[in-house]
Amino acid sequence: MRDTKVVKFGGTSLADANQFKKVADIIHADKTRRFVVASAPGKRFPEDTKITDMLYSCYDKASKGENFDSEFNAIEERYNVIIKDLSLDLSLDEEFKYIKASFAHSAGRDYAASRGEYLNSIVLARYLGFPFLDTVGLLYFNESGEFDLDRTISTLTPKLATLEYAVIPGFYGSMPNDTIKTFSRGGSDITGSIVARAANAQLYENWNDVSGFLICDPRIVKDPKPITTLTYRELRELSYMGATVFHEDAIFPVRTMGIPINIKNTNHPEDPGTMIVSQTVDSSKYVITGIAGKKGFSAITIEKDMMNSTVGFGRNVLRALEKSNLCFEHMPSGIDTLSVIVNTDSIKGKEKIVLDEITTRTHPDHMEIEDNLALIAVVGRGMRKARGTAAKIFTALAQAKVNIKMIDQGSSELSIIIGVSEEDFEEAMSAIYNIFVQ
Ligand code: ASP
Repeated sequence: MRDTKVVKFGGTSLADANQFKKVADIIHADKTRRFVVASAPGKRFPEDTKITDMLYSCYDKASKGENFDSEFNAIEERYNVIIKDLSLDLSLDEEFKYIKASFAHSAGRDYAASRGEYLNSIVLARYLGFPFLDTVGLLYFNESGEFDLDRTISTLTPKLATLEYAVIPGFYGSMPNDTIKTFSRGGSDITGSIVARAANAQLYENWNDVSGFLICDPRIVKDPKPITTLTYRELRELSYMGATVFHEDAIFPVRTMGIPINIKNTNHPEDPGTMIVSQTVDSSKYVITGIAGKKGFSAITIEKDMMNSTVGFGRNVLRALEKSNLCFEHMPSGIDTLSVIVNTDSIKGKEKIVLDEITTRTHPDHMEIEDNLALIAVVGRGMRKARGTAAKIFTALAQAKVNIKMIDQGSSELSIIIGVSEEDFEEAMSAIYNIFVQ
């Protein structure tokens, strides 16, 4: 079988001509980098605007019937500067004309956003001398708007088999009625994973502007150590809790095939980055693999004597949440108390309805709702074998004078979730990092 790597480049890696040159060097350095998935041009400097955001706001104006000439010109200009700086013999004028007319005829927000990757892939394909392969008619969603893996594999795999090299736009595909649909933001990572699966690649390289995952958020801990290896499941836990390097849904297409993902830095290609694998015999250097956390949670705490022996108590509480269409994050319980942790934004405005419903269903002795909670996930495959991990976390937090409001150990012993007050969040993250990572 032919050696194949699928390489996906994020928006900052393709933000201007200089970045395009780095990308081309990376691709040409390895002949097995056959299928290239491209994002739309991202930010060139911190205050810059991503093309995808420019497209959304331009389309919003167009759909209100307002004049959108200056917004559209700014988008054209971004591409034209890249084309000129790369000295390419290419004009996108016909494309721009068609897209502008489609905006005026309400072609849809997803169509609008998808043009960022579409145009950038045309430019990159020309620069590399590779064919451009659009995903329309190759990458499918079903009637309900969910990604349709079977249909996609049955069309994309034979198509890729006819090509030696290709540049493929990330982020979008076709609905059954042939309209365009995008994934959620950052979704080019998912396209890369789908292409890796369809091409049966040995490796999926995901290139962006950081050298992989770090053990903790660098805005909280100075120069945190990198994570060299991460399992798919650890990645899910960390991404869910706020680690944003890679789209959390992008592991699904490659997971069953066990295709490893390597997170790499376009600006420092020599750095090894993070390898994401299905499983590994390597234990990480530390007991924990990573720490991630988020603010913005609320806890509903319900007290009732003899709760523990009341059949269906938990179900009734969850039914009350379900009635208001609410998901819950965690549900730690004591003998006579039970807390349900929910995302604060999701319950805003519905507090009274939810509490009334719980009261009707469970007749609690006391109930309260507490906002401004932060959750921290301490994640590590090494925790299963190590004793005293929770004790170490408690010690670190006690020394930092942080009050623990909740603790929940996942049944897989892969993570421990800690709830603290939002004002203690940064202090708690640093304390946990420092006790495990020296
Ligand atoms: N360009 C899209 C976004 O900004 C998709 C992506 O870059 O992955 O979200």
